[in-house]
Amino acid sequence: METLYHSTRSSNELVTSKQAILAGIAPDGGLYVSDQLGESKVDLGRIAAQSYHATARDVLGTLLSDYTEQEVAACVEGAYGDNFDTPAVTPLTPLGADWLLELYHGPTCAFKDVALQMLPRLMSVAREGDGHNVMIVTATSGDTGKAALEGFADVPGTGVTVFYPDGKVSDIQHLQMATQRGNNVAVAGIRGTFDDAQTQVKRIFADADVNARLAAAGTVLSSANSINVGRLVPQVTYYMDAYAQLVQCGAIALGDEVDYCVPTGNFGDVLAGFYAKCLGLPVGQLIVASNTNKVLTDFIETGTYDRRREFVKTISPSMDILVSSNLERLLYYLTDGDCERVAAWMRSLSETGVYTLPTDVMDRMRETFSCGFATDDDTRETIRSTWEGEHVLIDPHTAVGKCVIDRRASEGRQRVCLSTANPYKFSADVLAALGTDTTGMDGFACMDALQQMTGVEAPAQLSGLRTAEVLHPDVCDQNEMAAFVESACARIF
Ligand SMILES: *Cc1c(COP(=O)(O)O)cnc(C)c1O
Repeated sequence: METLYHSTRSSNELVTSKQAILAGIAPDGGLYVSDQLGESKVDLGRIAAQSYHATARDVLGTLLSDYTEQEVAACVEGAYGDNFDTPAVTPLTPLGADWLLELYHGPTCAFKDVALQMLPRLMSVAREGDGHNVMIVTATSGDTGKAALEGFADVPGTGVTVFYPDGKVSDIQHLQMATQRGNNVAVAGIRGTFDDAQTQVKRIFADADVNARLAAAGTVLSSANSINVGRLVPQVTYYMDAYAQLVQCGAIALGDEVDYCVPTGNFGDVLAGFYAKCLGLPVGQLIVASNTNKVLTDFIETGTYDRRREFVKTISPSMDILVSSNLERLLYYLTDGDCERVAAWMRSLSETGVYTLPTDVMDRMRETFSCGFATDDDTRETIRSTWEGEHVLIDPHTAVGKCVIDRRASEGRQRVCLSTANPYKFSADVLAALGTDTTGMDGFACMDALQQMTGVEAPAQLSGLRTAEVLHPDVCDQNEMAAFVESACARIF
């Protein structure tokens, strides 16, 4: 049976998963969900015995069922090949008494690759139906832009334009984007902040003239936002594959429950764990780990989601978020699909910055979700103690999760800590956490020093940037961004 999706805020309009993936967000501002989630369960014995790729095919085949078997197989093969530096894709390694799920073996060394290597392929197949070219436009504070560039580079029928705030990303992040290869990519710095870039991108999406001109030439604009179903679904796979790896190494028996601890920002990664549970994976607790921007910790503890607080810049920047968009999907499932209540809470959030859930819904949430947070000092201390105690080098985002899990008793279940970035992606902060004064050191100097100190090799994706050629030197003003997108479309399509 074909899986159908509709908005979290109304169920009037049903779309296929291909349509949901092309659209990204529902017309009423809600997120696409399916009422069939959990109707068919995966075969656990089969999952435990098979490869990452086979599990990815099963997961996609179940949740995106209007893609044919051949389409799914081609997408999986393209997404998880040589572009990952290990055939295991997301290997599980010991971390003291717990486990580290290494999600950072893709081209940009962070977990977003798992989804962003897949989404473009899903979009490319979906657009074959309507014949349009799709231009992805993204503003980035550093990491997502590069992951989108790598994902969309040279995918047929798609292009990608990324804007970053000039002078406000790290030197390594800048080089990652400025050296991007591919015949369908465009990159520019803008004079302004990330928020300026984001605001302009939203304006471009809403600009009727720009969109009409592009449509006449057969192109539609889209985003690669983490609320897209096509980013959420691929992440379900590694929860299942981690379970398989635990069975295969004898750490658990088939059917045992496993806890997962997830460093969280937009709630996408941890929501994928909830989806895995709905599909029949024996998930014990999903532990939501936050940094000082602990909106989610407070929410899970009190039942009140309150974004009215100071935004704090931390050393785990990809989790510096006050509105966790993907939480809306969980609210939908926790209320058994009560669109009206979900819509009312979201209205309250946007109008007043706060909403409160009733006790019965929170009780239901707490059956699966627990929480905790780590300050920057906790994070640095965890990086240091994990290196000194376990000889495992972890990045600041992973350290937030590790700190939170270390404070909890294990309740007798095996526990998996999701590791979302290679430590070398944040060399300066990791090196400083290990006690080095990094004043005056650039990104490569920090990388070298960290390598020398720990003997852990820096990934080629990052160390190779030293000699890579800069292909995208452009810097533009905010009012030139729309023209930059249009000229990129004209050049690419
Ligand atoms: C995006 C990101 C996160 C947070 O993931 P969400 O899906 O937004 O919760 C954590 N760590 C790293 C390194 C990231 O890039």
